[in-house]
Amino acid sequence: MALICLILPCHGLSSIGNMKIHAIRHALPQARYQRCHECDTLFYLPDVKSNQSAHCPRCDARILNGRDWSMTRLTAMAVTMVLLMPFAFNAPMMSIRLLGTNIYASLTGGILQMAQQGDVITAAMVAFCTIGAPVSLVAAIGGLFLGNKLKMNVRPLLLMLDRLKEWIMLDIYLVGIAIASIKVQDYAAITPGIGLTAFIALTLLSLLTLIHLNVEQLWHRFYPQPAPRVALDKLRVCLSCHHTGTPDENGRCPRCHTSLPARSPLSLQKSWSALIASIIFLIPANLLPISVIWLNGARKEDTILSGVLSLGSENIPIALVVFIASILVPFTKVIVLTTLLLSIHFNCEQGLKTRIRLLRLVKWVGRWSMLDLFVISLTMSLVNRDQLLAFTMGPAAFYFGSAVVLTILAVEWLDSRLLWDAHATGNADYTD
Ligand SMILES: [Zn+2]
Ligand SMILES: [Zn+2]
Repeated sequence: MALICLILPCHGLSSIGNMKIHAIRHALPQARYQRCHECDTLFYLPDVKSNQSAHCPRCDARILNGRDWSMTRLTAMAVTMVLLMPFAFNAPMMSIRLLGTNIYASLTGGILQMAQQGDVITAAMVAFCTIGAPVSLVAAIGGLFLGNKLKMNVRPLLLMLDRLKEWIMLDIYLVGIAIASIKVQDYAAITPGIGLTAFIALTLLSLLTLIHLNVEQLWHRFYPQPAPRVALDKLRVCLSCHHTGTPDENGRCPRCHTSLPARSPLSLQKSWSALIASIIFLIPANLLPISVIWLNGARKEDTILSGVLSLGSENIPIALVVFIASILVPFTKVIVLTTLLLSIHFNCEQGLKTRIRLLRLVKWVGRWSMLDLFVISLTMSLVNRDQLLAFTMGPAAFYFGSAVVLTILAVEWLDSRLLWDAHATGNADYTD
């Protein structure tokens, strides 16, 4: 079944686009005019039912997802996650018997080792993505539940929920556990611990919650907005909460109270600076050793590439995963972002759809680059017998982690509507 959505001729475009539709439970926010947060097209958004999703007729960005859980169900998930967290974070995930001693590895143990032996900033990055972000998710859901009952201002919580999604990296850590186990098997046999079961359960629950957490629907529930009565070309879309309306007297979004400019100010400058910093950081990240192994007093260093190569001699699929996450993804991301930013400066017309798809792809895979740091943190806590046999972090880890975080920020700061503006300046019709 197709749901027709009308595009208004405010961008030199006047065509009818199609929206996808599936089945029915309860209605979401009322039909209204909406601008796409990615390409700024204004269109009429019909009612979207619970098993439908609405996509922008011009750039196919997902505008609205019908999937939605009630506050009670979200809170139940959050409570279960809170109960699992102490076990998932602190209980031993696996143990090995090394040189006559049992060594246990846990998530917090790995991070503490990193902070003690390596450096605090890299440990903090790992801690934020694996502990800080999931705890914030649970706290935000709890805050919403209370805020709903006590009629508090929950705008900051709703704003945070939308941004948290890509920083919750439990799934990536789980893959890291698998890779670390395969690496450590060289030295000793591994026994899985109770922490691993709790961690897998926590990861599954957080993924389910993130899939069903519909921030747009929560905004609508907590802060319903009247239909704006202004000329349609005056409507702006808020990039923080995706509400389409007009700025209030202070220039703020009427729904989330963040500033509502026509385009994000300094978007290009911020994106360029994060990108250039990440390119600079990628150089030492790839040239310096990322891990150091002490074996009977002898020191063996590995860079990212030599680590992948030595892994490749034993297990090609695992080496391929690490190669994609640590080398292919960061470099592709940097190249794609540089091309996008240059195309905005030069009002480039060609291949807009390809560029948009690439931007979405690098946004989606970018977080997987943290994988190598997670593997290092786990291996460090397992293989640690002082001078006899020890695995520690090299100086490249800090540069690598920073480069990954900076590229995520560079994508976040880029206002993708500028790509379409540059395209419009080039006066070309947007065709597939
Ligand atoms: Zn769009
Ligand atoms: Zn807003």
